[in-house]
Amino acid sequence: MPVRIVRTWTRPVGRAPRPVGGPLPWEIAHHGVVGNIEESKPRLYLAEKVVDDIDRRSREGAIRRREDMGLLLGDWAMDDEEDPYAVAMDLLTGSLEASPVAVKFKLEGLMKVAHALSDLEYPDVIVGRYHTHLDLGCFLSDKDKKTQEGGFPHTHQVAVVVDPMRREAAAFANGPGSPGSIWAVMESYTEWVGVERQG
Ligand SMILES: [Zn+2]
Repeated sequence: MPVRIVRTWTRPVGRAPRPVGGPLPWEIAHHGVVGNIEESKPRLYLAEKVVDDIDRRSREGAIRRREDMGLLLGDWAMDDEEDPYAVAMDLLTGSLEASPVAVKFKLEGLMKVAHALSDLEYPDVIVGRYHTHLDLGCFLSDKDKKTQEGGFPHTHQVAVVVDPMRREAAAFANGPGSPGSIWAVMESYTEWVGVERQG
């Protein structure tokens, strides 16, 4: 089902110190991206409860032989060195139609997600999409790249792939002209000061 954008917000990019990065329960393993992670600029910080949610859901999905997915809600900012980073504070998901090799929202799942997004007091932003691969490793398939391009094309939007069977994870950011073409550094966090915004 195609997604139609009915409302958009623009807001200035705020400035805030980055959270202190913590560990993840997965090995970071990127496949299909050329380049050195050390030289990668985009960063994604996952709140510990988001990490726990993803870890639990992805393992339950693996037992049932189903991929899992959800939207990462949060904010983004520039650090003191003018490098952008995204912070995922919540995982939003709904009922899924899933197999060992594919996943999408059922219509009712999509409605739930849409309602939850429209009910948010502050227009929290979608900083990315998470989904799982079952023992295939962490990469973006051609379909994943299309999803990223169509739904999450902005520089602060990251694709997170978790393989609960291999205990691997990876984050992919949108490089110049190409969705998911560069690595993003991914870490957990416990506290973040947040961006001060007027209004
Ligand atoms: Zn995929």
